[in-house]
Amino acid sequence: MTFVDLDRARKALDNERTALVRQLKELGADERGVFTGEMEFEDAFADAGAATAERNETRTIIANLKTELDDIDAALEQMDKGTYGICVDCGEPIATARLEFRPNSTRCVSCKASAS
Ligand SMILES: [Zn+2]
Repeated sequence: MTFVDLDRARKALDNERTALVRQLKELGADERGVFTGEMEFEDAFADAGAATAERNETRTIIANLKTELDDIDAALEQMDKGTYGICVDCGEPIATARLEFRPNSTRCVSCKASAS
């Protein structure tokens, strides 16, 4: 049970998803967060140490983007199942304000806090 505008939320999720996939591509990763641009990366840097540091940083960014993407996919899946806005952990409704602020929320504030 939620009073969130589902059409609006889905649109926001779709937009965010598109943006994330584009960012992943720009970083040389595919949609699953798999880094595919390693060779190019190596060539782009003369200094191997700098290249490694840069690559690690990129991997971290990719991992973060992937986490966001997973959240979005999970939220979209919930929409399809009609359980959007319900915390996946405790089954309680997620606060509307939270969903509006972050449409990819799949956990309520307290479950999210204890998960991380
Ligand atoms: Zn919860």
